[in-house]
Amino acid sequence: MGKTANQKKYYVAGEWQTSEKQAELSSPFSNEVIASIPQLSRDEVEKVIDVAFEARESMAKLTAYERAQILEQITKLFIDNRQEAAEIISLEASKPLKFALAEVDRTIETYKFASEEAKRLTGEMIPMDAAKNGANRFGYTILQPIGVIGAITPFNFPQNLVAHKVGPAIAAGNTIVLKPASQTPLSALFLAELIDQTDLPKGAFNVVTGSGGVVGDTLVESNKVNMITFTGSPAVGISIQHKAGLKKVALELGSNAGLIIDKNVNLDDIVPKCVIGAFSNQGQVCISLQRTYVMEEVYDEFLEKFMAATKQLVIGNPLDINTDISAMIHEREQHRVIDWIDEAVENGAHVVAGGKVEGNVFLPTILTNVSADSKVSCQEVFAPIVIVNRISTIEEGIAEINNSNYGLQAGIFTNDIRTAFKASKELEVGGVMINDIPTYRVDQMPYGGVKESGTGKEGLKYAVNEMTEMKLVVWNQN
Ligand code: NAP
Repeated sequence: MGKTANQKKYYVAGEWQTSEKQAELSSPFSNEVIASIPQLSRDEVEKVIDVAFEARESMAKLTAYERAQILEQITKLFIDNRQEAAEIISLEASKPLKFALAEVDRTIETYKFASEEAKRLTGEMIPMDAAKNGANRFGYTILQPIGVIGAITPFNFPQNLVAHKVGPAIAAGNTIVLKPASQTPLSALFLAELIDQTDLPKGAFNVVTGSGGVVGDTLVESNKVNMITFTGSPAVGISIQHKAGLKKVALELGSNAGLIIDKNVNLDDIVPKCVIGAFSNQGQVCISLQRTYVMEEVYDEFLEKFMAATKQLVIGNPLDINTDISAMIHEREQHRVIDWIDEAVENGAHVVAGGKVEGNVFLPTILTNVSADSKVSCQEVFAPIVIVNRISTIEEGIAEINNSNYGLQAGIFTNDIRTAFKASKELEVGGVMINDIPTYRVDQMPYGGVKESGTGKEGLKYAVNEMTEMKLVVWNQN
């Protein structure tokens, strides 16, 4: 496709605008140019922020019924445009189509949950007279919109992770300026096309494209933006926290998610789940299964079955419905992970599957005997790479998982109820999955990490709460 064949505009105040600067967007799989994307300047972003700032009033006037209806309209539009939305994800992110369709199905649920949460925005009664000086006072809280939300999103779930910000922001009555990842702007612009067909007041939802350093930074530093909701890498998240001043910040960051496999479990059930957990979307998932700690009694059998199942994965074009694994988001990522694997091997690791590039696809890779200080273990690998290490006690597995700067989710497969309770109490993460992979997520559950995995929770009810201000009202009846 030629540079001008698919020249995109950005979306502000319900209109499509051109920017002076454009940049080519290429498919990570074929390297073909697929679109030309506006690269907004600071001035242009500031004008968009002004629009969102002005739109606060019309947004705040909407009733809960109206906000829920708008979110229902978005849900319906995704149902009607499911295939196109999925193909856009596959094209720009190289996500195999079957997983892109699954992402759109989750997006539909996310907006549906958001529409339901719009109707549940309640405060609480405060028992004022429980205090010595509280007699004859009547107190309650109300939740009000926070104002302008700056949403900065990553490439790996370009539609559903955007929905986790846009859905609750609308449910809570806020306005939004969305900055999608530079590799995946097409999904965000497609969302704008859909939202344009709804009753959302113009100016309440805007999309700005361009580099994180310019566009993202302008949002983070603006005095008119009341909250930044960011999903992305820990390094960028931490820099945002430092720059944001007093504005509210929610950070959904990375991890090196771990799993413990106890003895006496049914490995035939567990292995297919681990294959999905480790390799779906080429391992570019914040809760991708990165570290597996297997009790020695079942270690050899697990490894053999895991390697056999991994060999069955279909490698190829993301737009082919049979493909399981395709290209990573960028060629430089392949070079990074090859360096990391080399380092692990120098530290004593064995590569028992994959470990190399075929065509432009990094093969699903299994490493064993990996030292805890190798980068593939202690940092976020964000690639189709999984470690399988042997443990002799559950305590050892818990200690290994906790020996991390991150703490998003962890999993344990066990048939021993005491072991399950112990793990749920002792694992230092935001969510523990008993008898499941750490990669398990549905969209209404509270989701967010501890340590360098972030602050704040997503999941519609929880995100709506983060995106509102609680106001106290006290009536003096004395
Ligand atoms: P990233 O490089 O941190 O980018 C995320 C977003 O931040 C992009 O829109 C990026 O824009 C923008 N950005 C970059 N520099 C910025 C700056 N200085 N100021 C403001 N914004 C800036 O992350 P990614 O590679 O897209 O995504 C992968 C990461 O996201 C992984 O670490 C993964 O674990 C994490 N993640 C976390 C969750 C979760 O819910 N916890 C979910 C998914 C992904 P550009 O694209 O223009 O650079």
